[in-house]
Amino acid sequence: MTVSRANSDLDSRELESFNHFIDGQFVPSQDGATRLSINPATGAPWAVVAEGGPADVERAVAAAREALEHGSWSSTSGLGRAKLMRRLAKLVESHADDLIAAEVRDNGKILAEVELQVADLIEYFDYFAGFADKITGSVLTTARPDKLVYQLRRPVGVVGAITAWNSPLLILAYKLAPSLATGCTMVVKPSEHTSASSLLLAGILDEAGFPRGVLNVIAGDGVGVGGPLVAHPGVSKVAFTGSSATGIRVAQAAASHLAPSSLELGGKSPNVIFADSDIDAAVAGAVAAIFSAAGQSCVAGSRLLVQREIYTEVVERVSQAADLLTIGDPFDRASHMGPMAFSGHRDHVLNCIKLAEEDGASKVAGGEVPHELRDGFFVRPTVFANVTNEMRIAREEVFGPVLAILPFVDEDDAVRISNDSPFGLAAGVWTKDVARAHRMARRLEVGTVWINSYRLVSFDVPFGGVKQSGYGRENGPEVLDQYLVSRTVWTDTSVTQG
Ligand code: NAD
Repeated sequence: MTVSRANSDLDSRELESFNHFIDGQFVPSQDGATRLSINPATGAPWAVVAEGGPADVERAVAAAREALEHGSWSSTSGLGRAKLMRRLAKLVESHADDLIAAEVRDNGKILAEVELQVADLIEYFDYFAGFADKITGSVLTTARPDKLVYQLRRPVGVVGAITAWNSPLLILAYKLAPSLATGCTMVVKPSEHTSASSLLLAGILDEAGFPRGVLNVIAGDGVGVGGPLVAHPGVSKVAFTGSSATGIRVAQAAASHLAPSSLELGGKSPNVIFADSDIDAAVAGAVAAIFSAAGQSCVAGSRLLVQREIYTEVVERVSQAADLLTIGDPFDRASHMGPMAFSGHRDHVLNCIKLAEEDGASKVAGGEVPHELRDGFFVRPTVFANVTNEMRIAREEVFGPVLAILPFVDEDDAVRISNDSPFGLAAGVWTKDVARAHRMARRLEVGTVWINSYRLVSFDVPFGGVKQSGYGRENGPEVLDQYLVSRTVWTDTSVTQG
């Protein structure tokens, strides 16, 4: 990435250009700074994006607060919000091609995966629109018969949202849809590597007729925008998706002004194959669990635990399947896997591979940069066997196409190895024994368990982690509680008017 704080001397005539979206308008940074967005499949810049700073955050939070407290949004009924959200869903559908193209260019995810995510985006707005006019309070009973007490549920306020680069639109939808349904306003900082699609979505929101200030998007990095946003006293709630290390810093900064935070963080998810499973399905599931999105997925099944009796067979079949995956241009429908999203991340993935070899794991597939694709940030699908749970490849998140396969003896051993991790995001269990599957689901310390499946996530089902994978849940009706606060109202009915 190249950040230009002065007037750019780059010839940007052929590059697309993106500005922040503040108070209903696209505006450049106050100091004129920009950043080049690089297409990870080619290594070449494709867009110039405004690079925000604290002054831009200040303007965006002020706009969001004004919309929350005084603008027409503050008096828009639940039904009005629902209608706007349904219009937004329709407009996302008509602008889908632009959103998809921006996302593929920015993070290199293959076309088919981004198409599915944009289809999901539409469903998020439709689903949460259904709640917008059904958020009700309640009348409370108390021991004081002369008092009437009721409870209102009000929007929590200005939401500061920070998102990661692997699924920018979907991660934003997890936060934006409940925020719009409850009547909050939002300032979003997308990842500095993938800001374009969030800025396009802001324009679509505007076209749908949302009042100015309801959604503001500031492009920029953690130092210039993320930190000032989270620490801003005008932000009432922080919704964060990213790494565990950044999540801890974000939670601390939010706590400095007592803003609640929800954190969707990293993982090192165990995918457990028992000898009594449907092995064909389990092998296909294990390959998809790690190599979808080129492993750049928080729920990637990056630790494959295989029962001893079938260990050799599964290692052989998974590594053969990895070797057969086609990597290449994410716009080419023949590609199964695109590049790493940016060069620094490619270097991180290659370093993790080096450390796994140093720790004594056996590389049985991939591990290198494909020579013919060396302009982009590609890494071949990589599989390590003979991994122990103490090795760095089993403990640390790679967030790339690197699978560690570990043997286990029995159910207790599988639970022990699975839970011996700093993370607790998700787990898979492959077995034909129904009782065992549900015993495992009770014992695994994670936020989601998939039985004979993997990587299923839906707008109407809660999602989130435990331990260093974070706290708070997104999706499903319960997420609404994080965007609402209750207010108790007492009336003294014993007072008579003279
Ligand atoms: P990251 O932590 O490097 O960055 C996440 C976001 O935080 C970015 O927008 C970044 O600019 C911002 N940021 C950085 N420093 C900040 C600071 N001090 N204050 C405020 N904001 C700051 O993570 P990443 O590399 O963008 O994303 C990959 C990580 O995200 C992985 O660990 C992955 O598992 C996780 N992730 C989790 C989920 C989930 O739902 N659990 C989903 C996707 C990604």
